[in-house]
Amino acid sequence: MTSEPQPSTSASSAHPLVSLKKVNKHYGPLHVLKDIDLEVARGEVVVVIGPSGSGKSTLCRAINRLETIDDGEIRVDGKVLPAEGKALARLRADVGMVFQSFNLFAHKSILENVTLGPVKVKGMKGGEAKELALSLLKRVGVDNQADKLPAQLSGGQQQRVAIARALAMKPKVMLFDEPTSALDPEMINEVLDAMVALAKEGMTMIVVTHEMGFARKAADRVVFMADGQIVEQATPEEFFTNPRSERAKDFLGKIL
Ligand code: ADP
Ligand code: MG
Repeated sequence: MTSEPQPSTSASSAHPLVSLKKVNKHYGPLHVLKDIDLEVARGEVVVVIGPSGSGKSTLCRAINRLETIDDGEIRVDGKVLPAEGKALARLRADVGMVFQSFNLFAHKSILENVTLGPVKVKGMKGGEAKELALSLLKRVGVDNQADKLPAQLSGGQQQRVAIARALAMKPKVMLFDEPTSALDPEMINEVLDAMVALAKEGMTMIVVTHEMGFARKAADRVVFMADGQIVEQATPEEFFTNPRSERAKDFLGKIL
């Protein structure tokens, strides 16, 4: 644990937007994150790839404190996430998250799904939240579905709503945990296209995915995890054509 003073401002671009230092996490006897060091710069797009069970989801969940960590330090925009309470809710809003399962509120309209966070957590006025929601739904191409319920939409459309919902909180970084792995193949590209557009607009993103096309199009860096560790990092070009570790070669041999 470090005891550096917390920077008082968050606007500085001198520090990485997301930083993990010597982060460790156990589930009982299982050591799932082992001394993870990772820095993500503002505007950077990092794709995290690795075998099932390697700790990718735990890493994402630790970054917005859906999981606690045993030791080490995680900062978002220079600030250590507080343990709980209002301060946590505020800082957590800086981290947008999109999961494999879309997790939309089933009994609320698409529009309400997107306006809820800004109104409840950020105290935004209803009219303003609606305007914001409609513009975000438009951005991901589902604004014509605003009055429907989630179940009336395809999986690809629901996942794009989930992206709009996360963006409505105006996050500084977006985390995606296998956002297309529950989708039928014909819907994968519409979600990836929305993510590529977001990356091109300069959003800082951490994306767990095995979609090589996305990595090649949008990632600045690929981080390969295995067995709770970051085994290697490289540009997508370098990683996919010339992986260095045996574990990465083995993994790529199985998925390519
Ligand atoms: P990945 O996303 O790379 O597949 P996870 O982060 O989901 O990996 O899981 C890492 C390891 O931690 C796996 O062995 C998994 O079974 C275990 N694990 C994940 N969540 C829990 C939990 N809540 N309780 C106990 N073990 C867990
Ligand atoms: Mg996972």
